Amino acid sequence: MQSDGGDRWVTPQQTFVDLPFRDTGLSALYPRVALRWRDGSGFAYDREPYPLAGYYSEVEGVEEFLEIVGAQVGIVITQANVYENVKFSWSWRVNNRETRQGVNVDWGIEFLEKIIESGSPGLLRSLWHAVHSSPHSKAIATYQANRTARTYKIDSQLAQVLKERAWVLDRHGALRTPREMTNDDLPDDWAKPTDGSFVMKLDFGSNANVLRAREHIHTQQLRRLGLDDEDLAAVMEFKAAGGSAEDIFRMARERSADSRFPVGASDDPDRRAGTAARDALNAPHHATEVRERSVVVGQKQATDESKAYLRAHYTNESGDMFCQACQKPLPFRTKDGWYFEAVRFVAGRRQIHTANAIALCHLCAALYKHARATDDEQLSVTLMDRSQGTVVVPVVLDGKRVRIVFTEKHAIDIQVAMRVAGDDRKL
Ligand SMILES: [Zn+2]
Repeated sequence: MQSDGGDRWVTPQQTFVDLPFRDTGLSALYPRVALRWRDGSGFAYDREPYPLAGYYSEVEGVEEFLEIVGAQVGIVITQANVYENVKFSWSWRVNNRETRQGVNVDWGIEFLEKIIESGSPGLLRSLWHAVHSSPHSKAIATYQANRTARTYKIDSQLAQVLKERAWVLDRHGALRTPREMTNDDLPDDWAKPTDGSFVMKLDFGSNANVLRAREHIHTQQLRRLGLDDEDLAAVMEFKAAGGSAEDIFRMARERSADSRFPVGASDDPDRRAGTAARDALNAPHHATEVRERSVVVGQKQATDESKAYLRAHYTNESGDMFCQACQKPLPFRTKDGWYFEAVRFVAGRRQIHTANAIALCHLCAALYKHARATDDEQLSVTLMDRSQGTVVVPVVLDGKRVRIVFTEKHAIDIQVAMRVAGDDRKL
């Protein structure tokens, strides 16, 4: 089949097989190149070799037949001249009398460089197939000047290239050297190498073993950080997708048990509620100032006491403090500790209570103060509704639904404070 759409009768040796017969990828190696008559009279014929014409697909056994009669049905390892091997020393020839009884064996693949450069998955799989199905002997080049001379054995030209170049496709589509690969990394339609395979002489998996060992140590470290299997799987997935070590450890830290949003469970919720109620009654009164009509925006900064209170409640055991709205660790530290804003949760109360504040990162604080659609009344009602444990209050900020999370202790304190101050909900 030619580039002008026509057919040309050729010998089997001038033919190669690719889809629809067999996915050899050879079309990538032998693109159709139209040759022209020297006299300029136009298209003559395509450059050899030719893909087998599609209508042969109706002929049973045509591939096997063509293979026998010399068509190219895949990539083949061929004999090479050991003199061209960079590891060959000319002194081996010079110092010995070379005879016809000598040995000159080396191995190569035609267009090997082109095949690797192509990056074509089909072609590389054909290359893999050729290498994988060949014996160890293809890794060795042998030279012996004559029957009695010393025998020199060096890496074959083919082995040298295949060891150094990244030509093995992994299941993520990346090209790697054989030594960086393992069976598990191979795509599903690539055969797993056997012990006797030439692939094993290309240091297949040797570096991967080292990498695996290192990974194992990392895994142990991550486990010690408190990651469970599910977390580890997520970290590994991220890593496989090309995540950097830095990101992985940041991610691991975020995922580790030590770095989770504080629970702040109360040992004795009833007792805590009693104490909180007394505190709420004793809380100082607002200096009554005339305020604008109840608007959602314009939350005032809470007091220093609130800040200390929040700092204590939203810092976990490993010292990270979290935003109640986005539940992310706070990004900045100042000399006073983590930078956060203590924002009054609901405004318009006559009594200031320490617990009536939430710890927010600067971004969430800005949204809560200036772009909140959920009003105080709704917030109070939702908060009072929630029972024991961590309390979540949904709030719409800048058109998005956000969950404000309260530790159990904070929730009890703020609920009690509101109940006690109950009737003063409106200023
Ligand atoms: Zn936040």
